[in-house]
Amino acid sequence: MNSGYQLMEHLAQITAFKDTRLLELTLLKTLQTLFKPDSLLLVKLNMNNQPLFLLRYDPDANLLKNDDPTQLCNNTQALIIDALNKKYLTAVTPQKNGYISIFPVLNLFDMNCCFILKSANALSADDINLTGDFLAIYRNFCLLIEDVQTDQLTGLLNRKTFEKNFQHINEEHSCQSKSNNQRATTPTESNGYWMAVIDIDDFKRVNDTFGHVYGDEVLILLARLMKSCFRTNDQLYRFGGEEFVVITKCQNLDNAHFVFERLRQTIEVYNFPQIGRVTVSIGVVQLQTGTLATALFDQADQALYHVKEHGKNQVEFYQELVNSELIKPVTTPSGKIEIF
Ligand code: GH3
Ligand code: MG
Ligand code: MG
Repeated sequence: MNSGYQLMEHLAQITAFKDTRLLELTLLKTLQTLFKPDSLLLVKLNMNNQPLFLLRYDPDANLLKNDDPTQLCNNTQALIIDALNKKYLTAVTPQKNGYISIFPVLNLFDMNCCFILKSANALSADDINLTGDFLAIYRNFCLLIEDVQTDQLTGLLNRKTFEKNFQHINEEHSCQSKSNNQRATTPTESNGYWMAVIDIDDFKRVNDTFGHVYGDEVLILLARLMKSCFRTNDQLYRFGGEEFVVITKCQNLDNAHFVFERLRQTIEVYNFPQIGRVTVSIGVVQLQTGTLATALFDQADQALYHVKEHGKNQVEFYQELVNSELIKPVTTPSGKIEIF
């Protein structure tokens, strides 16, 4: 029923996107069109196979809906892990009311993914093989995108990717604010996004004293420390040189203080081989709906600049500095997100 020609057509559509979200959506639409399952899920797991994201495809709206990954029943989780352990083999398992087919895609963007189809009838061996091959191409294409989006030295996201991702966050944030019927700009807003600009202190001295290769080693190790302090779904960027940006979701201001202070301390106490102690200065700002990426970055950068001028190796929050009249507010024009 599913011709190779049809698949090739979908493949052409998929490879037209360089945005992983659109790519996922198009892939799910393809699977929906080909197999017309009763339900279609995309599960993303960390490298220990703990489910992090559960995305449910809504064919009527052609949308991916975020569900709580803890909703996955133990039985389905066990099937997923089994399928992942078998690498590219697909498990088709009879269930009470039909069949569940699991298509694993290994190690994409530091996560394992599984496409899960629930349908009344079992997929044929041909359909499974064709879909497996199709997903192998999808994976290779994602790896190419990953290569373009990441910084070669540290493996963090690069600056180019920031603007696109920022736009996604802004859209999601704006939807949440509307649905919560809350003013997005309220500083006490719960579960908001926070952006930090992080700059290594006196990095020129590291290069001058130990050489550029050791300097690079510090950048690599620092990126690893950053990864250890944040969750898989937080966004970590190397913005250039010895400057990094983090976008993370925090429950409230106290939580944001805790998270960024923990990062600062983790770096401060780390013993960098040969070099010893390295510290960072951090400026933080809360994301406000509709604010331009550039304006938000400027605010965080103002807070960072304040730290640099006042002893370095500290975390400062833009809004707190403004409230205490320690810095002047940066004007934040709102509107369309501009190229960063
Ligand atoms: P501050 O505490 O004010 O931030 O001082 P700093 O020395 O860290 O800042 P400055 O801007 O004076 O110097 C940044 C240095 O970062 C200069 C440059 O040699 C070094 N750098 C930038 N990119 C790289 C890189 O990719 N590798 C290495 N090893 N060094 C880099
Ligand atoms: Mg520096
Ligand atoms: Mg710098």
